[in-house]
Parts: sequence; structure tokens; C-alpha cells
Amino acid sequence: TIFGATFMLVAAEHPLVVQIAEGKSVEQDVRAFVERVKKQDKMMRTSDYYEKEGVFLDAYCLNPATNKKMPIYAANFVLADYGTGCVMAVPTHDQRDFEFAEKYGLEKIVVIQNPDAPLDAETMTEAYVDEGVLVKSGKFDGMKNLQALEDIAEYLESIGRGKKTIEYRLRDWGISRQRYWGAPIPVINCEKCGVVPVPEEDLPVVLPKDVALTGEGDSPLEKIASFVNVTCPNCGGPAKRETDTMDTFVESSWYFNRFCSADCTERPGLDRAKVDYWMPVDQYIGGIEHAILHLLYARFYTKMLRDFGVVGVDEPFANLLTQGMVCKETMKCTEHGYLLPEEVKDGKCVYCDREATIGKTEKMSKSLKNVVDPNYIIDEYGADTARIFCLFAAPPERDLEWSDQGVDGSFRFLSRVWRIVVDYLDDIQNVAPFGDGEELDGDLKTLRKKTHQTIKKVTTDIEDRFHFNTAISAVMELVNALYQTGRPEPGDTKALSVIRETVEAVIILLSPIVPHMTEELWEMIGGKQQLSNTPWPSFDEAAAAEEEITIVVQVNGKVRSRVQVAASESHEKIKELALSDGKIRQLIGDKQVIKEIYVPKKLVNIVVK
Ligand SMILES: [Zn+2]
Ligand SMILES: [Zn+2]
Repeated sequence: TIFGATFMLVAAEHPLVVQIAEGKSVEQDVRAFVERVKKQDKMMRTSDYYEKEGVFLDAYCLNPATNKKMPIYAANFVLADYGTGCVMAVPTHDQRDFEFAEKYGLEKIVVIQNPDAPLDAETMTEAYVDEGVLVKSGKFDGMKNLQALEDIAEYLESIGRGKKTIEYRLRDWGISRQRYWGAPIPVINCEKCGVVPVPEEDLPVVLPKDVALTGEGDSPLEKIASFVNVTCPNCGGPAKRETDTMDTFVESSWYFNRFCSADCTERPGLDRAKVDYWMPVDQYIGGIEHAILHLLYARFYTKMLRDFGVVGVDEPFANLLTQGMVCKETMKCTEHGYLLPEEVKDGKCVYCDREATIGKTEKMSKSLKNVVDPNYIIDEYGADTARIFCLFAAPPERDLEWSDQGVDGSFRFLSRVWRIVVDYLDDIQNVAPFGDGEELDGDLKTLRKKTHQTIKKVTTDIEDRFHFNTAISAVMELVNALYQTGRPEPGDTKALSVIRETVEAVIILLSPIVPHMTEELWEMIGGKQQLSNTPWPSFDEAAAAEEEITIVVQVNGKVRSRVQVAASESHEKIKELALSDGKIRQLIGDKQVIKEIYVPKKLVNIVVK
């Protein structure tokens, strides 16, 4: 967005501010402004708490991309300790800059155009912060804004007017808390000696257990005389133990290392060989709020321990998954405000019979009353239905929209699984699953292929991407295939062994998702050990492979090429493949295709003019 930067903001407390204003007519105003901002709370300055304000320094700088003059302002919502404390302002694409420009009548230039609804700087009522296409950006016009980031950075670097950097938002961290829970800060406060560390032989400081947690006032530890009153290790006089405890993030930033060497009694409590063997953590799963604080703290800690030589790992977590939230539509009555789902019957408020209006779908919250009590689902359908619904509704990184129909559909699928297993129970109970070596054909061959394709898909969907939703769809398809397979005669052991293999696969593949029901079914079909102790099935590549056939491609009746396709491929897809074959495309050139004739499993004849 640098082409849209029209003014420059400097943190009010930045030394440059007074330096620039010195000796100018604005100096008194600037000094007064700086003093006022210094009294504002630093954390709140970047929020909406204070009105965004600034003062012109009677100075200009040049935009490095456009060479245009940009006025320089001191501002309260820019902080001196973030980055350089000076930022370019792009009012059309940053809401805070937009408000600032409106207030002081500063120029606005649209440089990211919204492809769906063109923007006009004159009539915009808020900044446009979504993606779009660059305009008024010199040689970068027409590029998608995110793709242009790298190119513009390189361009500025090439003309010596900038370079790429990474800006961390890690600030100083005040770790003391007035709480009972938390590791005690091991210091003693002595009136004579000041702050004295607890001697090493007295460590660790252990929290007292006889504490009244009233939820009121200061730290409950202050009221425990036996904890607070101690002898100063330095002068032997009476002293007070520190009652503040550490922020829980202090310990959660390194506990995973301790888990790897829990028995270590040597300083510093971590056995490097063991930590290096187990670390890093393969998978971190957490809400997006962890992606900001805990991850940064834990990474900072890891690098610190690495620099001290305590551990050899550089990064604590190999993979991050931030799961989405559960959302649901909101419902409102003009008289009674937000309504819980059970307060609406047939679209009406149960208290006044007024029509309930359905509002936006939002993250479930008590205040919006768009919450579903899991106990209700569990009573009505069981815990397995609740689980499969949640996993099926969306991939885990996306928000999940709660839907009662979806819950019902999940329940029907599980019932379908239950019914077919019970239906086959007598026939397959004493049959071993199909082993390799024997030839199959027809329905049974197709079913076995589908079974092994499903094992493969479910395994990779879960292992590689946690995509339980697509894994569940695959099992649904397999269950359909099982229903469609003609029922073998009771004595046909070979056919029943194929059925048995499929039934086992369905049960095992669903077991991480619906553990209760599958454990029950497993026992019913005569599983030798608990399902949870049964190995995950492996798939047979050969059985999963699609059979391939060769299709001859003719142009005007003459054989011109051949294409390999899966035997089960659709007619449409085969025609498409024939037309996109390199040799055929060349032959057709700009001639007109009049028709394509398809002889199933044999040839495609393309008639051109
Ligand atoms: Zn002392
Ligand atoms: Zn009402």
C-alpha cells in the first residue's frame, strides 16, 4: 500500500517530534500535545479507548515510491517502542489512518481496488482492508495486492530505498500476579537489605495449602503469616516473603521440556539428552489466542534455553493447528431480547408469542444466547453423534456452524452403520477377513477396491491434515458401497470374508471419531481384543489401484493417439482427456469439432470440419 501513503505518523513521545518542531511556530502546541499523550495509558493508546489525535509538525518527507510530499504528524496511537516509532499512513486501507485523515482533512488515495464494488476515495466511509487489485501503483498496477508485497519490497530494495524486516510484537513482560496459583517468586524483602534471593538450599519455595480463596482483595498468600514472616537470609533480621506469584505463562512456556525428562533431579531440572531426543513437540493445537501470546513466549523461552546450552532444539513446536470456533445463528424477540434455542417454539418467542427474528451467525456465547447444551445432544442422540457431527461439519481450522439438521443427519448415518453390521452379524461372525491370494471379480472386487481406497484416504486425511470431515465422507461412501453389494449366500465363505473385511474397516476407521459405538460393534463381530488396542489397518496398494484401460482416439475415423484411463472413468471425462491429448489438439488446430463418438471402453472418434 506504499503508493497510497499520504502522510507520516511519529509516536508522540519519540525524541524526533520535539526536535523537528523546535524553533517553529508550532513548537508550543507540539510540546503541549506530547505532555498530554505521555499521561495516557500506553496499552490503551493503540485501542479505541482514546480518540485518535495528532499535531502537525510543520515538516514533510518524501514517499519513497511516489516521491510525493507527505506531511508529518505526531500521533497518540503510534508507540515509540514498536518498530521505529514512525509509520506511514494509508488512510484508504487502514481504519485508524482513515479516521485520522478524516479528522485533519488529509489526502486519501485508493490503491487497492475492490473488484466487486469499485471504491471512490471521496465517498468512502471506512477504510477498505480486504484484498483486491492494485491501482495507482505505477508498474504494479493490476497485480493482486498480496502477490505484489514481495515485488514491491524487492523494487524498493533495488533502488536503495528500503529493505525487508520482521517486526515482533513481543513487549516487556510483567510476570508478577497477585494470585495464589502460580510459581512463587523466590525472593525475600528485608527492610535493611532490600530484595534478597531465597538461598538455593531453600528452593523450591512451596505454596502453603491452608489458604482461604475468597476471590476478594489482594493475593490470598498475604494473609498466611507462616508463609510471609521469615528471617532474612542476609542479616538474620525479620523479613517478609514475596507473595506475588508468576504468570502461568512462565511455566507453560517450558513445561514440555520437563515432560521429556520428568525424573531429572540435577540442575537445571532438564536432561538435555532426553529433551533433545523427544523435542520438538510434533503438533500444537490451540485457539487462535494462543497463536499470539503463548507461542511467542514459548519460542522465546526455547531460544533462551538454547542459548544457555540447556537444550539443543531451536523451535519448540513443529506444527500448529488453530481450530475454529463453534458458531450458531442468533434469535431475538423485540420484547425479550436474545432467546435461547429452547425459548423459541415454531419460530415464536415462548413468552409472548411474537415472531422471533433470526439474526447473524456468531461464535456461540452466553450473552447472545446462541448456545447449545451438549447434555441435550448427549441425552437425545448420545456422545458419539455429538462428536461425529462436530468433526463432519467443517475442517478443524475453520469455524463450525451448528445445525440441528446436521446433528440429525449424523445420527442417521451412525444408525445406518449399526443396522448393516447387525444385519450381517450372524453370517460374518465366524468368518475371517479376506486374505490376499484369491482372485475376485464383479461386485466383490469393486467392494474390496473401495475398502482399500477408503483405508488409504482416511489414513492420509487424518495423519496429514486432521481433515476428519473428508475422512468421514469417505467412510460414508464405503458404507453406501456395502449396502449396494449383492448379499452373498450364507455359506459363501469367500464372499462373506470380503464383507467381513469391509465391516472391520468401517468400524476401525470410525473408531477415533465414534469410539463408544465402534467398540460395541467390534465386540459384537467377535473382535479378539479391545478395539482401542487393535492396530490401524494398512491398505493394499494393489487392491486399491484403479484398473486402467487403453482408449483409442481417432480423428475423422483415423487412429491418431491412445490414452490411459481408469476403467471406472466417466464418459465425459474420457472425451475430455481425448480432446486435451497433445497430438489430438495439434491435429484439430482451429478446426471445428462437430461431434465426439464414444464406444465404451474402446475408442473415442472426434469428427472435425
Ligand atoms: Zn536483611
Ligand atoms: Zn418475547
